[in-house]
Amino acid sequence: MSIQEVSDLWQQAAACRGPNQVIFFPPSRLERRTDKRRREARAKEICLTCSVKDPCLDYAVGIREQHGIWGGLTENERREVAAVTA
Ligand code: SF4
Repeated sequence: MSIQEVSDLWQQAAACRGPNQVIFFPPSRLERRTDKRRREARAKEICLTCSVKDPCLDYAVGIREQHGIWGGLTENERREVAAVTA
């Protein structure tokens, strides 16, 4: 099994798959701060229920993903995690 296949396995169990996926990333249009906070809070609630939260966060921190909610954290929160673990 390749590294890509292992990566795909956790992604198949992601609670954010499907129509909710759009709330995990900023829209292409300008987003007001209050709308962003609300969207991120909804995404984080889904992450709390996700069985693959840990591998998701490890993956996002590992590739230094710049956008979206991954593993229940925003990009800024992931940067803080990466700085602590570096
Ligand atoms: S932790 Fe959140 S972003 Fe990661 S796979 Fe689960 S629902 Fe999606």
